Amino acid sequence: MTIRKSVSGKRAAVSGAVAAALGSDATSRALTVPTGGGAGDVFAQMQTMGHEQVLLSHDPSCNYLGIVAIHDTTLGPALGGTRFWQYGSTDEAITDALRLSRGMTYKSAVAGINLGGGKSVIIGDNRRTDREALFRAHGRFIETLGGRYITAEDIGTSPADMEYIKLETDHVAGLLGLSGDPSPVTAYGVYVGMKAAARVCWGSDDLAGKTVAVQGCGKVAWYLTQHLHADGAKLIVTDIDPEKVKRVVQETGAVSVAPDAIYDQEADVYAPCALGATINDESLLRLRVQIIAGGANNQLAEDRHGDLLEERGIIYAPDYVINGGGVINVYGELHRWPMERAKKKAGEIYDTLLRIFEIARQERIPTYRAADRLAEQRIAAVSGLDRMWMGRRRGGR
Ligand code: NAD
Repeated sequence: MTIRKSVSGKRAAVSGAVAAALGSDATSRALTVPTGGGAGDVFAQMQTMGHEQVLLSHDPSCNYLGIVAIHDTTLGPALGGTRFWQYGSTDEAITDALRLSRGMTYKSAVAGINLGGGKSVIIGDNRRTDREALFRAHGRFIETLGGRYITAEDIGTSPADMEYIKLETDHVAGLLGLSGDPSPVTAYGVYVGMKAAARVCWGSDDLAGKTVAVQGCGKVAWYLTQHLHADGAKLIVTDIDPEKVKRVVQETGAVSVAPDAIYDQEADVYAPCALGATINDESLLRLRVQIIAGGANNQLAEDRHGDLLEERGIIYAPDYVINGGGVINVYGELHRWPMERAKKKAGEIYDTLLRIFEIARQERIPTYRAADRLAEQRIAAVSGLDRMWMGRRRGGR
């Protein structure tokens, strides 16, 4: 298995709880891949990024055009949402599927769960109202893979779409009435991850008296601020939606500021819990915090911003590690875990981050690179297990 990458570029916004949880774009600082038209380049991209398989499917009866990219199944079946998007070209759609599926490999690997990385895309207008045949066609395509790929929500898809997929295949998560909103588990992981960063920064993981500037007062931020408030942290919050700010302020006594002012606060920790790419050239001139630890996907606008954080001595908890509670929650759904078990697993993010900070220190590399290294180490270690015949295939556990 080859896992190599070169990354840079912009990130897309992700909507939807499960979509956000899977961190669709999360791990995936946008990849720089070989460009140029023609199917031959897909192999070049697969070789560069280490993909196992890319499949295309077409059903003319409902105008379905679907792609499934499976990056790596060393750890288990490939999990990743279905993105429904009007791509400019087939090449663009394939590149997105390749980039996002690779990100899922890393996210699940560091989360310590037995899932590989995959992603699917449906090309088309996601406002389309005649959805049953389309998503059933997608479900049939997924079924042909026999469980090598499991799908869930992503941009442009909803739990109702997953129900259509479920009519054709069992290899779908994020169903109505099952694991539900992953935000409490995600927020718990972010909370313990922030404590791990505090321990490395200040020698104690006690957040009492520390000031945390939280960007966004949505689902993850709501649960996160509850934990922080209970610990005696001082909160500065913002959101573009005043109602959401009001609710957090009333519940926690937080101080609210205008959305753009969040970067200028005298705070110990910046917790991005809204948008991606908020660690960028502009915000880095303004942030005066010692730790960045939040739930948002794609926090670094580009990799070099992670390098700059390292140079400035700001401890950065890599986004796809600290927000891994969401994918853990989906994994819990697949294995019928009660919420408490998923939460306990998310609690391991504390130790995972301590390991990442230690790798970064020892190897003198930025934390986001240390996270990639840890993911790759786990995949390499598990792939070595193949040598001993167990009487069943590893994916069957
Ligand atoms: P959410 O939509 O509930 O909350 C996001 C909030 O950010 C909204 O209240 C929105 O009004 C606010 N916002 C948007 N633009 C803003 C701006 N410029 N300044 C301040 N606030 C702004 O979403 P969520 O589920 O809480 O997810 C938050 C982040 O965490 C996203 O990046 C998401 O991808 C990521 N994430 C979520 C989960 C999960 O389990 N929900 C898991 C992993 C990652």
